[in-house]
Amino acid sequence: MEVIMAKSAGFCFGVKRAVESVYEQIETGKKIYTFGPIIHNEEVVKDLEEKGVQVIENMDELGRITEGTVIIRSHGVSKEVYELIDKQGLECVDATCPFVKRIHRIVEKESGEGKKIIIIGNPGHPEVEGIRGWAVTETIVMESEKEVEDFLNDKNNGVLKNEELCIVSQTTFNYNKFKDLVEIFSKRGYNVSVVNTICNATEERQTEAKQIASQVQTMIVIGGTHSSNTRKLYEICKKECENTHFIQTLDDLHLELLKAASPVGITAGASTPNNIIEEVQNYVRINF
Ligand code: SF4
Repeated sequence: MEVIMAKSAGFCFGVKRAVESVYEQIETGKKIYTFGPIIHNEEVVKDLEEKGVQVIENMDELGRITEGTVIIRSHGVSKEVYELIDKQGLECVDATCPFVKRIHRIVEKESGEGKKIIIIGNPGHPEVEGIRGWAVTETIVMESEKEVEDFLNDKNNGVLKNEELCIVSQTTFNYNKFKDLVEIFSKRGYNVSVVNTICNATEERQTEAKQIASQVQTMIVIGGTHSSNTRKLYEICKKECENTHFIQTLDDLHLELLKAASPVGITAGASTPNNIIEEVQNYVRINF
């Protein structure tokens, strides 16, 4: 079986850094917490749990902890979370990806100057919630053309043509879609300053996945079901290659999925550990 493996598959720089910092902190022997699962990957989270790392799910839980170290994951958090960690007298290890940190700084500055913040991204995603938590003015989150159109057509939304808006994006958002949504604001004559905050790791991974998917018969996308960047990779690949499969681990790779469909392309989301990618790759190479 011919296999085309994406070079950009797997942990990006920000996720690698965050996961490594948890393993480093375990060595200190202190009680270690992560604010939210460190990455969207059940295997890694399970391994960390077995090593005593506890996941804090929300502010209420954080407010009950009085001892130990809290690690902030690569998605970042709102300003409020840092303040509460401080108030509780806990140590903080900040593994927020520098690319996300940059968005926090932009949003804090631009909103501080009175601009309304538009975030192009998934409203329920923790990264987006974290970004919102750095704005001192109203933030609006949208992710589709319809949402942008509805927002601009809504007479009650209070955005005036001469009002200054600042548009940023979730780091994992699809670049072309971002461009299209921004264009709607510009074409309608809104006063927008746009900062493309999509990270290169995402763009590179998406471009490579698209290119591979367009030349294979079967495409495998590996990642956690809660990982938004993996889901986007899947959508991109599915458009190019109908026979695209989203799997979490080798266990999901059923034989019938790959029936006589060479060449096979493989890519993986930013939170997929190398050992899982290797396992899938070796299995496909050997068994088909
Ligand atoms: Fe950082 Fe980009 Fe990875 Fe997100 S995808 S953690 S922004 S390197």
